[in-house]
Amino acid sequence: MSDIIRLSAADLAAKLRAGEISSVEATRAHLDRIAAVDGDVHAFLHVNAAAEQVAADIDARRAAGEDLGELAGVPLAIKDVLVTTDMPSTSGSKILEGYMSPYDATVVARSRAAGLVPIGKTNMDEFAMGSSTEHSAYGPTHNPWDLDRIPGGSGGGSAAAVAAFEAPLALGSDTGGSIRQPAHVTGTVGLKPTYGGVSRYGAIALASSLDQVGPVTRTVLDSALLHDVIAGHDPNDSTSLTDQWPSFAAAAREGARGEVLKGLKVGVLKELPDSGFQAGVAESFRAALALMEAQGAEIVEVSTPHFGYGVAAYYLILPAEASSNLARFDSVRYGLRVTPDGNATVEDVMAATRDAGFGDEVKRRIILGTYALSSGYFDAYYGSAQKVRTLIQQDFHSAFEQVDVIATPTAPTTAFRLGEQIDDPLQMYLNDFTTIPANLAGVPGISLPSGLAAEDGLPVGIQFLAPAREDARLYRAGAALEAVLVDHWGGPLLDRAPELNGAAR
Ligand code: GLN
Repeated sequence: MSDIIRLSAADLAAKLRAGEISSVEATRAHLDRIAAVDGDVHAFLHVNAAAEQVAADIDARRAAGEDLGELAGVPLAIKDVLVTTDMPSTSGSKILEGYMSPYDATVVARSRAAGLVPIGKTNMDEFAMGSSTEHSAYGPTHNPWDLDRIPGGSGGGSAAAVAAFEAPLALGSDTGGSIRQPAHVTGTVGLKPTYGGVSRYGAIALASSLDQVGPVTRTVLDSALLHDVIAGHDPNDSTSLTDQWPSFAAAAREGARGEVLKGLKVGVLKELPDSGFQAGVAESFRAALALMEAQGAEIVEVSTPHFGYGVAAYYLILPAEASSNLARFDSVRYGLRVTPDGNATVEDVMAATRDAGFGDEVKRRIILGTYALSSGYFDAYYGSAQKVRTLIQQDFHSAFEQVDVIATPTAPTTAFRLGEQIDDPLQMYLNDFTTIPANLAGVPGISLPSGLAAEDGLPVGIQFLAPAREDARLYRAGAALEAVLVDHWGGPLLDRAPELNGAAR
């Protein structure tokens, strides 16, 4: 395997700047890797045929002395929920098969402006509904650690692409955990920004009050570098914050230098039962806490009594918003149109199109959402869920008066087998038990590898949460713990991934 693809984005960018590697070489190395392994992994729905051309353009601009962004020339994988003008955008759905957007999502436009090289669009559960990518209309992605296992979801494609060294950086979206849970099961890093911190313009909407776009990477610093590119106010997104964000890369670099853990108050949740977690997940979490404590962190128990109601509230709020957002797929404006035989009315065409174009999970949630929003039930369901959401926000607010960050395991188990949960939607929903509350409260969260579970040798993630607008705190704490862990392991966790089931690693 070429050494280029094993470099972190930060190291690759430094070599590009120093002229040791060209962007064309870097892009080609990743395209070769995709050609070698993506038949097995299936992280990509579309590979950018023009990637080398884009890279050549960056090389030419650099040679001409242009002052390019820090990540210029580095390849970037893009979750298919984000619209792009030069590649199809399907959000994992048949209803958008082949759809070409007339505009770029703001995060894509900013990435291009920073000189990143879009290398392809990554697989995902249909409309970002799921925790395994098995709900993709284009077939599942496989976990590079074990091809029989799920890569997480909904952004399993982005996480697998990064874990399999098919791309150094990826963009994801997180409505209830779709950046963090895939990071947990693939041994990678994923960060959901503060709600409003990154533009949602051009991110195909799932649940607008919960969706956030964020980075998927192999290191905390790489996440920060990509976050610096995509953060900031966007007048095209009415919920976009007008904050001036600090440099996240500077925060990550400060964290990696050490000292940050000394005196850091890390909250653990009193109400989070050990019993819900696979033994190796709970053990990896405890070991990470002990390492932080040894570096001077203070572990403090905090109470968040409503945390456990997050999943229930989420599965009323999300379907309600999703059913409304997905109403736009009406066979008139976008994508698929199915016309039944005979004297079909407009309604017949819509019904036939939506029946053929949407998968089971999407239909399930549209039915749930329209029911929860129906008159007579609205207050009992949607109204109550919104009240629970407020209580969860208040819990976080008081917890963060006592601690700097909250830590939890990112998800209850390591990567489960493909097919294991697909017929049990409620079981699938519980994968996001610890990630959903951050979306409901709008606070930022990061998942980074904490180790391997003893019983199956698969990766485990630790999640840090911080108060809204304190994303930089996650980069300081995350980079500090990452430095301690990598030192402890004697190298990055991904170095310990087994050969990609015999493929060309
Ligand atoms: N797995 C969760 C769901 O199915 C989260 C999805 C997401 O974050 N997009 O809704």
